[in-house]
Amino acid sequence: MTPASPAVGFVGLGRMGTPMARCVLQAGFSLRVWNRSPGKAEALASAGAIAALSPRELAENADVVVTMLADSDALDAVLTGADGLLAGLRAGAVVVDTSTIGPKAARRAAAAVTEAGGHWIDAPVSGSTAIAEKGELTLMLGGETSAVERAEPVLAAFSAKRFHLGEAGAGAAMKLAVNAVVAILNEAVAESLVLAERSGIDREAAYDVLAAGAVAAPYVHYKRDAFLHPEETPCAFTVGLMRKDLELALEIAGELGVDLAAVRAADGILERAEVQGLEGEDFSRVAQVLRGG
Ligand code: NAP
Repeated sequence: MTPASPAVGFVGLGRMGTPMARCVLQAGFSLRVWNRSPGKAEALASAGAIAALSPRELAENADVVVTMLADSDALDAVLTGADGLLAGLRAGAVVVDTSTIGPKAARRAAAAVTEAGGHWIDAPVSGSTAIAEKGELTLMLGGETSAVERAEPVLAAFSAKRFHLGEAGAGAAMKLAVNAVVAILNEAVAESLVLAERSGIDREAAYDVLAAGAVAAPYVHYKRDAFLHPEETPCAFTVGLMRKDLELALEIAGELGVDLAAVRAADGILERAEVQGLEGEDFSRVAQVLRGG
């Protein structure tokens, strides 16, 4: 990296944020990190990042601030208050929010960042933890072109493909459209697998067929272990977070007059998973709900 590289701040070191921040560090940027539960910053600090004391202190030292948080409440908590990002934001800094928060919350946050003298990009990601570890996420971007261009070297550290789709909120809206497909595909794989099993076919053999045929999307390949060995496979994306995305999609669909019939069905099974105590488990566990287990 040349000395002109932007100083980067990364807020939110969960399942996705940790590997993304590590990619930023490995790309050679100077990096400050902050997480609500401070223990999660330790591994990155050992690898060369500076653990900031607050979002404010992080923002005071960053030209590009990336956030990867659970939802819009988490983003609000990190942006606002005496120790929040907005209190320390450098003039002209770019705030890149990669969380899935929906277009309304993205536009609200964009207005607050602009008011504080910064620039906003919504940059939700497609791809799960394994893809984040490789730095090969797909980003859906909403915001000013000049801000996207300034953040580009940082975005390139953790993504392989980037689509600039329009003004603030456009990336956030596209992400909900993408997750509608993911949720329906997840539900379809679960239903297909349980049907095959009940027909006397070995679970692994059934999965081999799905993964070899016309429906073998990348998703079917990378969820293989989660569907075949749910107890031993680490959670990548929780039932609770997917429900949050589907509720946001159903909300904007209602306002736009679009009937998302399959999304409603997938959301209903995820709700049953939550009722069964699976909110914090991987969302492929809907197969367990369908098995009646
Ligand atoms: P996660 O592991 O649960 O991490 C959530 C992060 O948000 C943690 O850093 C958590 O801090 C922080 N957080 C939650 N509430 C907060 C609050 N009130 N104040 C401050 N920080 C708060 O979730 P994830 O799987 O990384 O997902 C993060 C985002 O990416 C979500 O919007 C999700 O929908 C989206 N996404 C996830 C995937 C995936 O495969 N996992 C793929 C694409 C997009 P603590 O550590 O203190 O709890």
